[in-house]
Amino acid sequence: MDISKNLSAVTERIRQAALRSGRNPGEIRLVAVSKTVSPEKIREAIKAGVTILGENYIQEARKKIEEIGGAIEWHFIGHPQSNKVKYAVDLFTMIHSVDSVSLAAELNRAAEKRNKIIPVLVQVNISGEETKSGINPEETARLLTELSSMDSLSVRGLMTMPPWFENAEDARPYFIALRKLRDELSERHIKNISLTELSMGMSGDFEVAIEEGATLVRVGTAIFGPRG
Ligand SMILES: *Cc1c(COP(=O)(O)O)cnc(C)c1O
Repeated sequence: MDISKNLSAVTERIRQAALRSGRNPGEIRLVAVSKTVSPEKIREAIKAGVTILGENYIQEARKKIEEIGGAIEWHFIGHPQSNKVKYAVDLFTMIHSVDSVSLAAELNRAAEKRNKIIPVLVQVNISGEETKSGINPEETARLLTELSSMDSLSVRGLMTMPPWFENAEDARPYFIALRKLRDELSERHIKNISLTELSMGMSGDFEVAIEEGATLVRVGTAIFGPRG
């Protein structure tokens, strides 16, 4: 598995997708998703030019961050157990997965104690699948209103995970739906809420997500190979 080669290929595909949809490739940031990936491989990816890593599990991330260090941005894309929320605030520069008032309030409390302001995204269950995390689209405005008074969280945008499809084109309607939801919510001008970021697109569908407005793509397998 040649991580450097994979990364170049992904970066070029990001660039092409941006250009073909009339966007500046510099607007799109790559989050290299490193869950289950060894520190050795992560170092290789950093050497090859990765600047943001995405992790799903606090304990796993904690070990890796201790070992690899913080010269890099670490983003949290998973769902913390309540008793681990405080670590999320210590470890990560952005949290992509805020999907309830209670999680938001816990993060806010932990950040406040540490005198930090944590950038967060609201995860939306845009497909309505029961197994998926994320808040329902209809409840998102209410969550944003609650978030607007949590001074230690800085809301930057929305995140979603569409259902898995063989064909990436099938994910397009879900990416469009998230972008439209973002546009609608932006028009409400909720105090302290800025929805510039759209975190959407994974190994199988990141080009389609970019065509529909993604600013953060979360790519694991296409960089690191299949997870063991
Ligand atoms: C694992 C994971 C990814 C990366 O998935 P790949 O298909 O390996 O690119 C992206 N986002 C989330 C939330 C994940 O859990």
